[in-house]
Parts: sequence; structure tokens; C-alpha cells
Amino acid sequence: MDIPRIFNITESAHRIHNPITPDKLVTLGAALRLEPGTRVLDLGSGSGEMLCTWARDHGVIGTGIDLSRLFTEQAKYRAEELGVADKVMFIHGDAAGYVADIKVDVAACIGATWIGGGVAGTIELLVRSLRPGGMVLIGEPYWRQMPPTEDVARGCLAHAISDFLMLPELLASFGRLGYDVVEMVLADQDGWDRYEAAKWLTMRRWLEANPDDELAKEVRALLTSEPVRYATCTREYLGWGVFALMMR
Ligand code: SAH
Repeated sequence: MDIPRIFNITESAHRIHNPITPDKLVTLGAALRLEPGTRVLDLGSGSGEMLCTWARDHGVIGTGIDLSRLFTEQAKYRAEELGVADKVMFIHGDAAGYVADIKVDVAACIGATWIGGGVAGTIELLVRSLRPGGMVLIGEPYWRQMPPTEDVARGCLAHAISDFLMLPELLASFGRLGYDVVEMVLADQDGWDRYEAAKWLTMRRWLEANPDDELAKEVRALLTSEPVRYATCTREYLGWGVFALMMR
């Protein structure tokens, strides 16, 4: 049970598997006014940077679930490194349908809303672990500019323009689901560069170390095409943010 191997290769050196940056994770933690002992659940926790740094900086207690064995191992290592292994727990597994035994104060899914079949389904799933009055965190892309064609949307690795909304519509959609948007921290193009461009050096080094691997051809093709695809499409058209929601 794991994610497709290509992601474990291209994102093996990432601490954060999203266009949010370490300073913006700090901003988000402060914005949410986290108190020591706050319980946080993170579905699709990746390499655990959010939970580990918030445990260090705010004393939160966290559980993360992630389908990547590699990222989960990295998250456990990071918890040791930051001295918070007693505060955070990382579980390797499928987060689809995961509901916490003890209700949490903050239930998050940052950039993995396919886990609940989309934004609405993921919010529903998270709420099943949430104490009354708790906060949901959703990390999700939106169109920074509307793509002029479906081809451009596909260039952003979306299936279609309809995959994502413009920011005002995304915020309105949370309202229609019955939630107040109580905070948000948005990524910017520099953050996108940190997420996307960091894959290129990782791919280059991996290719040098693994020339005969069965995925070498695919990685070679990606390294050749990704910089231009990214600069043409994702960097210009796709926004991304973390939205904090509380039920009305
Ligand atoms: N929230 C993290 C990771 C985002 S990337 C961060 O911001 O850094 C998306 C993550 O979802 C990846 O770590 C991937 O391994 C994980 N993932 C994908 N499908 C999953 C599933 N069904 N259950 C749990 N995790 C999943």
C-alpha cells in the first residue's frame, strides 16, 4: 500500500509537499492562535512538517495519516529531530474514511482533498473527528487567473477548468456548505517555485544515481518538460491556499 512511486521519487527531498513555505506555516500556526495541548488531526500529512513544527512552536498534540511509506518515515524522523516525538504520531495508511478515536480541536487535510472525494466530502470526513466548535483546515488550489482554454487547465495538471474555482467562488462554496471562513493563508508564486522547482534537482540527482531504473525514462522526460510546463501553466494560473473553517 503506497502512493505511485513517481511521487516518492520526485518529492523525496521535500519537507512540505505543497506550495506553502516554512514561513507561511509559521504564519498559519500563529493565525490560528493555537494553544498548548490543542489536538490536531492531519489527513495526508506528508512528511509531517506542519504537525512537527506546530508541536514545537505551539505545543499541539497531533496525529498524521499518510499513504506514502517514505513520507511517513520522514515525518517520524522529523519529529525526533525537532524533539516532539512524544507529541505527534504518524501512521502509514489510507486516510479515506479515517475517523479519530478522540475528537480533535483542528482537523486538517492540506492538499489532498481527493481523500474524501473532493472538498465537500473531505470536510464531511474531517468533521466526523472534530469536537463541536472545532476548526477544519483545507488546503486547496484555486484559479489565480481563469485558464483561457481546457488545454491550459490540463497544462496545470487539472483534468478540466471545472476542477477548481476562482478564489471568491471557492470562499463562497465554503459558505454554501455551512461554514464560516475564519482564516486563510495563501501561497504565492515563490512558494510554487519551492514546491515545483525543488523536484527538478531531486530528479536530476535521482537519474544520475539510478540510470537503469524502470522509471528512469519517465523521470528523464519529466525533467526535460517540467520547467517549461510549470512556468507556462501552473505558475501563472494556479493559486493555492489553506482555509480555516468553522461550522455556522
Ligand atoms: N499535507 C502534506 C502533504 C500534501 S501532498 C503537506 O502539505 O506537505 C498529498 C499527500 O497525500 C501525500 O503525502 C500523499 O502521500 C498523501 N496521500 C495520497 N493519497 C492518500 C490517501 N488515500 N490517504 C492518505 N494519504 C494520502
